[in-house]
Amino acid sequence: MRIDILTLHPAMFEGPLTQSMLGRAREAGAFEVHTHSLHNWGLGNHRQVDDEPYGGGAGMVFRADVVVPAIEDIERKEESGKRPHRIYLSARGQTLKQEKVESLASNHDWLLLLCGHYEGIDQRIVDGGWIDEEISIGDYVLTGGELPAMVLIDAVARFIPGVLGKQESAHEESFSAALDRKKEYPHYTRPEEFRGLKVPDVLTSGHHAEIEKWRKSQLS
Ligand code: SAM
Repeated sequence: MRIDILTLHPAMFEGPLTQSMLGRAREAGAFEVHTHSLHNWGLGNHRQVDDEPYGGGAGMVFRADVVVPAIEDIERKEESGKRPHRIYLSARGQTLKQEKVESLASNHDWLLLLCGHYEGIDQRIVDGGWIDEEISIGDYVLTGGELPAMVLIDAVARFIPGVLGKQESAHEESFSAALDRKKEYPHYTRPEEFRGLKVPDVLTSGHHAEIEKWRKSQLS
């Protein structure tokens, strides 16, 4: 999968995308990420990307005549004529759920993520068809779309072959179809007793059918 990110702060992605499983998976070529600074398409000497909202009010709004050429330029570099599925990370969007994550991973091999700031983006960027969907990571407001983009990338990447190690599976986790979209059962490891708290007997019984039954009973 290829992911392009249009952002005012490309450096914010360096940590999360170069460390741990995502870092290793990228190095191994399981997926590629390209960050693009929106300032490259900014207007005038100050590379201005935003302006005051019509109708007044606090905060600035990303200009359509900056964002749309940026999207078009990123896509123009792809000679096959293919275009990405374009997502604007937005508190007003559809809340991200595991089923959406799975569908993004299985239906698209190229995502373009637009990270907003300040008051957001000119609505004509959405209405004109340059955005395919708006996705929110929850009912709260963040300062920018970078953290939401990282959350989305991390969740989607778990379904890309080669990202999870042999010991992990994306298929028997909280919210997976295999667990009826429920929350997973609790886990325990050594020691068997910790400060008076014991591991449930069934888990040390060696009785696999009973363990399965207990785990199913713990889904919520
Ligand atoms: N005026 C917007 C509103 O009330 O919905 C909030 C803008 S917010 C301060 C700036 C940017 O952060 C947004 O353009 C969006 O890209 C991002 N953002 C904030 N909260 C988000 C959330 N819950 N999910 C996804 N993106 C979010």
